[in-house]
Amino acid sequence: MDYKKLAEILFPNVKETIEYYENEVFPQRKLPAGAKVTRLGPSPTGFIHLGNLYGAFVDERLAHQSEGVFFLRIEDTDEKRKVEGSVEIIISSLKYFGLNFDEGALLDGEIGNYGPYYQSNRAKIYQCFAKYLVEQGRAYPCFCTEEELEEIRKQQTEENVNTGYYGKWAKDRNITLDEVQTRLNNNEEFVIRFKSMGTEEGTFEIEDAIRGKLSIHENYQDVVMLKTNGIPTYHFAHVVDDHLMRVTHVVRGEEWLSTLPIHYEIFKSFGWEHPVYCHTAHLMKMDDGAKRKLSKRKDPELGLGFYMDLGYHPAAVREYLLTILNSNYEEWRIQNPESSTDDFEFTLEKMSNSGALFDLDKLNNICKDVLLKISTEEIYEFLLNWAKEHKNEIVEILENNKQSVIKLLSVGRSGDKPRKDLMYCQQIFEFINYFFDEYFEIVDSYPENINAEEAKKLLALYLETYNHTDDQTQWFEKIRTIAAENGYAAKPKDYKKNPDLYKGHVGDVSSVVRIALIGRATSPDIWELQQIMGEEKVRRRLEKAINN
Ligand code: GLU
Repeated sequence: MDYKKLAEILFPNVKETIEYYENEVFPQRKLPAGAKVTRLGPSPTGFIHLGNLYGAFVDERLAHQSEGVFFLRIEDTDEKRKVEGSVEIIISSLKYFGLNFDEGALLDGEIGNYGPYYQSNRAKIYQCFAKYLVEQGRAYPCFCTEEELEEIRKQQTEENVNTGYYGKWAKDRNITLDEVQTRLNNNEEFVIRFKSMGTEEGTFEIEDAIRGKLSIHENYQDVVMLKTNGIPTYHFAHVVDDHLMRVTHVVRGEEWLSTLPIHYEIFKSFGWEHPVYCHTAHLMKMDDGAKRKLSKRKDPELGLGFYMDLGYHPAAVREYLLTILNSNYEEWRIQNPESSTDDFEFTLEKMSNSGALFDLDKLNNICKDVLLKISTEEIYEFLLNWAKEHKNEIVEILENNKQSVIKLLSVGRSGDKPRKDLMYCQQIFEFINYFFDEYFEIVDSYPENINAEEAKKLLALYLETYNHTDDQTQWFEKIRTIAAENGYAAKPKDYKKNPDLYKGHVGDVSSVVRIALIGRATSPDIWELQQIMGEEKVRRRLEKAINN
């Protein structure tokens, strides 16, 4: 077979050579020794999830820890899955979490010398490389129809052999030049298949940077490289792009492990070195005591939109991700409580290869710690910006009450045992919204031992003796007095010792006050809250509770 001729009749319009692309268009990058080049290659499906962020974070750390390059390539070869506006969602979501690309398909257009960064605009390049493999006798046109392929499959099943297009089953492997020409003249559709040299028994070894040495079955299938429309499959685009764009490390989910043999063989067929593969573990969660994969259908927390809608602080999410990304991160954090996450030396070896456990409660706990380190002024700004995007109806009240909100967020945050109340914007707003009359409601009930009538009596006494200028000690003394004069122990421990002697203790009385004032049974120091609310609001709420 004259492969050169075959290549020429299949790709008459491809004039470039692969050397042209390799040497002139996409030459080696000039980077310091050891610099890593990584890419995120999302498909623009409109859904960006935690797995993408997890992988992107690895990419970003590898590149930026080594003075390398982290770029964004949009893998849009599947027309059916394309969703308008996806690229913006991808870029802005990753930016939200502090991940910035050095080059690629960016919001202001494409930046960098290795583009186009949309695979759909690289058709010419793929065709040139496909033509080359045809010339080498490592690729061929296949005119089989769906029906013919189905027929092959049926026969294979009957004979109890592996299904697929390979070996003697690959009927167009030995198609003649004349037949190709005739079929082309008839305008018959064809795909370009890779001609595999592998066998069903063969294995090979490859080092995965996360999983260590792997021994896997080699590829033996003549997979499709170019579809009937001349657009590549993932397998072919991955090999050509990651080679030309000079990617050193491919970080991708473990679902790609099963097709790694294909990629390995295509790299080999070109005589190229393959990049270092880093197959990350699936994100898992505990569900009813069992570990399972996070699912798009069942788990809203899989989508990144979930965190942005609720207003999670990016620093907290980054901090959390590092704890599941690297097993030594938490220990490092204890030793370096004040350091920036960027100072941690992230390594692939310390990544889990058996499923990274995602735990929303743990994330929330980390949020509490991370937000404690952020000033309340900054949290206020973060909350306000979040509201502008996600909860417009509260923007005005936040703006009109800036100082009060900052004070409300600050109560109890200093000292040896600072309060850790704040997690994410939606929750933060709910935590302080009693301050605003339009949001104030009685959520909790009075302690069980105090009925409504008794509560009103206690509140009336409280209001009677209320002096807004009392300091904290004076204020509490008054509550103690009210308690003692009405049959409540002035100290909880007295009550514990002799519960039969009292109706309750001073804590019950202050609970009544707390519920009347802010509607909840727990909160930071009530005296401080009263000072922030102001005398008028305090009296008004007490009166309302008494006259209710
Ligand atoms: N386009 C692929 C995906 O969305 C990317 C896989 C890779 O990073 O190679 O899953």
